[in-house]
Amino acid sequence: LGKKLQDILDNVRQQGRLTEAQVKAAMREIRMALLEADVNFNVAKDFVARVSEKAVGQDVLTSLNAGQQVVKIVHDELIETLGGSAQQPQLKTENNVWFMVGLQGAGKTTSTGKLAAHYKGKGRRVLLVAADTQRPAAREQLKVLGNQVGVPVLEVQDNEPPHVTQQRVKEYLQKDFRDLVIVDTAGRLQIDENLMDQLADLKTALNPTETLLVVDAMTGQEALNVAETFDKRVNLSGLIITKMDGDARGGAALSARFVTGKPIYFAGVSEKITGLEPFYPDRVASRILGMGDVLTLIERAQQAELSAMDPNKKITDFDLEDLLLQMKNLRKMGPLGDIMKLIPGMSKMLPEGFNVDEKQLKQIEAIIQSMTLRERRDPKVINGQRRKRIAAGSGRTVQEVNRLLKMHDQMKDMMKVMQRMGMGKGGKGMPK
Ligand code: GDP
Ligand code: MG
Repeated sequence: LGKKLQDILDNVRQQGRLTEAQVKAAMREIRMALLEADVNFNVAKDFVARVSEKAVGQDVLTSLNAGQQVVKIVHDELIETLGGSAQQPQLKTENNVWFMVGLQGAGKTTSTGKLAAHYKGKGRRVLLVAADTQRPAAREQLKVLGNQVGVPVLEVQDNEPPHVTQQRVKEYLQKDFRDLVIVDTAGRLQIDENLMDQLADLKTALNPTETLLVVDAMTGQEALNVAETFDKRVNLSGLIITKMDGDARGGAALSARFVTGKPIYFAGVSEKITGLEPFYPDRVASRILGMGDVLTLIERAQQAELSAMDPNKKITDFDLEDLLLQMKNLRKMGPLGDIMKLIPGMSKMLPEGFNVDEKQLKQIEAIIQSMTLRERRDPKVINGQRRKRIAAGSGRTVQEVNRLLKMHDQMKDMMKVMQRMGMGKGGKGMPK
């Protein structure tokens, strides 16, 4: 999120409720974030209107949460718009015919090969049909992929009428049982009426069970038009977004999904045959908002089993003993500075000049270890005299002890936020 948005969010505090003006200001920034992620202008506008309606008047639970709350509302709505959870194409025990469509260069042929590999791996008997007779090398490209995966490829001949193709597929299947037929078709650089007619005819003849539009994530704004036109002409059943390994933030996915209302089944993430993943709306939503790092953090935290707090204890009880434990666990996660930077707002919450490195970490541990158990459990009792004693005991200055206590206070606030975002112990669980 941009700095400006962060500032606005920071200002939204202690009001009790999100006011219209606050939401409006935040939404202007959200709309910018969407446009920067290449979401179509009209889609962004409509989206923001919907979210604003939901956000105004929502209770703000704590001062620190107000901003996060707006982000959460936006994030949730994005996930919803992108389809909620990962979805799979329909697959019956047999007679599955998938029709791949899309512009030239979108990744149809590559995705066809990837799907063949994926479903062969799941025990399916796949047949590929090379129906792109426009480009001279297209059929050859699919044959190479078919060879690599180990599935047969039936080649459509030049100028072959659709009913002949249908007949040839049928005859092939009578000789060699296949339960999933994937048809790679021709694309053009731009929407082309003639091509649409051909596609529509071939689709009618083959009567596919899924018609999948392959969309290049890098096409950005154009994705809306492409998806809309293909859907009108050949009635799509689902989408595949390719080249998500590139710089694109995922706005194309949102636009295509928005205009067709069809599920996004897969994301292409490399040129390799294995570069196909289920499409995870929550991850792409984070990516569109530029929050990808948050998920990285959550994953790393999960790996390190960040929270070792007593499960019977409320997170708001987070004391210095817990801090000591968390510090030790954090160290397992990797360079602390990196992790701190991943936590939204964390850099702001840390005291000026606070930059945790291994050395400082050991100093913090030393300070806490110089405290009595009572002091660790209830830092409020640590008065001036105790601070001096702790400083002397740990070989640190009183200032450093003060800084640690302040940091602990701020961390306690952060734990509450993390819990509200479902990131911490006792939260609703972590996104997968
Ligand atoms: P088609 O014209 O729609 O059949 O597109 P192709 O399948 O021939 O792909 C066009 C180019 O995009 C090729 O160079 C592919 O290797 C590349 N490509 C396809 N999908 C992906 C992907 O998910 N990630 C990356 N990085 N490249 C891809
Ligand atoms: Mg192709």
